[in-house]
Amino acid sequence: MRIPEFRLWGPGRHGERERTERAWITEVCQVALHEAMHLAGVRHKDMTEEQCYCSMPVPWAADLQLRIKETPVEVPREERVAAARADRLGHAQAMLAKAITRSKRAVTIEKKWKRRVALLSK
Ligand SMILES: [Zn+2]
Repeated sequence: MRIPEFRLWGPGRHGERERTERAWITEVCQVALHEAMHLAGVRHKDMTEEQCYCSMPVPWAADLQLRIKETPVEVPREERVAAARADRLGHAQAMLAKAITRSKRAVTIEKKWKRRVALLSK
């Protein structure tokens, strides 16, 4: 999930006021706490008004630093194709090894039952 940068939260869209970076960090922490409560099974009706509307105090956020996630480096298409091919080759080799094992096991089982049939046919 990518949380929009505070600079992108322009004032007025939903009655928001202009935010400072510190206010943005506080709000991110309040929302994160609210969502963590949901993960713990808490429903809105079980929350206090502050918890429900993400206005609870978060003193632990006072000197928290949030960094904007860097844009991932674009991998050239040839490298992506080569990596995908290597993955498929590895998978095919593993499946071949399994098939060889199953084949050998089948031969062993066949020998066992041939011996049994020969023994009982005497
Ligand atoms: Zn909620």
